[in-house]
Amino acid sequence: MQNHTNNNANNSVLELQTQLRQKKISAVELAQYYLDNISRSNLNAFIDVNAEATLNQAKQADILLQNMDNHQKMPLLGIPIAHKDVFVTKEWKSTAGSKMLENYYSPFNACVVEKLANSGMVCLGKTNMDEFAMGSSNENSAYGAVSNPWNNDYVSGGSSGGSAAAVAANLAPAATGTDTGGSIRQPASFCGISGIKPTYGSVSRYGMIAYASSLDQAGVMAKTAYDCALILQAMVTKDANDSTSIQHPKPEFLAKLNSNWQDGNDNQQPLKGLKIGLPKEFIGDIDSDVQNSINQSIQDLTKLGASVIDISLPRTKLSIPAYYVIAAAQASSNLSRFDGVRYGFRAENYSSLSDMYKKSRSLGFGEEVKKRIMVGAYVLSQGYYDAYYLKAQKIRRLIAMDFLEAFKQCDIILGPVAPTPAWQKGTYSKNPAHMYLADIFTLSASLAGLPCMSVPCGFKVQNNFKLPIGLQLIAPHFAESDILQIANVYQKNTDWL
Ligand code: GLN
Repeated sequence: MQNHTNNNANNSVLELQTQLRQKKISAVELAQYYLDNISRSNLNAFIDVNAEATLNQAKQADILLQNMDNHQKMPLLGIPIAHKDVFVTKEWKSTAGSKMLENYYSPFNACVVEKLANSGMVCLGKTNMDEFAMGSSNENSAYGAVSNPWNNDYVSGGSSGGSAAAVAANLAPAATGTDTGGSIRQPASFCGISGIKPTYGSVSRYGMIAYASSLDQAGVMAKTAYDCALILQAMVTKDANDSTSIQHPKPEFLAKLNSNWQDGNDNQQPLKGLKIGLPKEFIGDIDSDVQNSINQSIQDLTKLGASVIDISLPRTKLSIPAYYVIAAAQASSNLSRFDGVRYGFRAENYSSLSDMYKKSRSLGFGEEVKKRIMVGAYVLSQGYYDAYYLKAQKIRRLIAMDFLEAFKQCDIILGPVAPTPAWQKGTYSKNPAHMYLADIFTLSASLAGLPCMSVPCGFKVQNNFKLPIGLQLIAPHFAESDILQIANVYQKNTDWL
């Protein structure tokens, strides 16, 4: 198998965990190392850092690390993590990439932030993102675009672009992200790291600034599938503060990570018996290097014992209009709370209450967000609701049923994450809506609420630089542990980390 190692396994969470256990490094030293990397970086991956708060958390971790029992009980103790700025935090600003929430401090921490802090992780700060998570390139952030660590003229992907760039450039060993229609998987693939979006409902949305509530789901981005499993394990929960959160029926993501598929005993073929479905709609109109990398990964997985069958997800194309109607509709409703009254940006000069609303919203939101609010209000309005929103919801149901049909024939679905690797900044500035088409391979799994992951599988080699390519794995509801197991076998047997 090809060898294209780019040393991503260095400074993995697993490796840092060993160094902390062996006392080769303290949590404070580790936090300081990343804070230094962040301050030297020119990627614009972070919106806020607060070194004092980070080091305080690290000091607490060091105290707990003195007791060896805690190493077993708290496997993430002392490991740093960056949080996407969509998760509210008390000690760091929470802007969601918007001017609307410039300098906003939340009175409480998001459930995800709280759970990871309780598991001993040290927060490094808040990562840049497309405004309110709307975008695929991080160019919609009010705080500027994030540069791709592989070539600074290229986009990091979005909306969790800051998190992806931070992990890829060693500014953090891991980061949280959110994925409404691809925002974990696509930036992970553009930056050459691993990222998983779990089944909708697995992780609480409490304290996650809402974009499209029926699709928004938190997940994790890290160098390896192993690291993702370790951290996701600490994130899943049923939370009384999120009525759509559920008790995950199979939350043991680490248990079978290192075993063969269905406990087979052929170590040359650890994936023997695995049936991979390749949707015919996921091949064809894509960059040739992306296609070649996917073909190569299929060969690699076949050598590892898996068999590949052709399947069809016939409504794939409809995922774009269905998603952009549903997401805009829910965004228009969620974002109505930003009225300049209780919190957030308020325009300075206004003549009446309605003038204050108008000016605050006109100046506080960016162009893409305003566009989606208007589209959303339109598709929900009387007379158009049935034609657009209801229709989109019906298509969503059909898309979900396509997956149920497909999973009768295979255990996992494989395909590209995006039709191309990262593009140059500004590519879509004249035609922002054309960027929506680049979401074609990520939207349908989101609409169906399925767990899905991106893992690095190759590069597009240009004259004097290369751009990473991601492989997407999609599993039935609650089968995160299958995705992570397959991704881990793939990463152990190839060098695409
Ligand atoms: N690119 C998609 C959008 O703009 C998905 C974003 C996301 O998953 N948050 O809505």
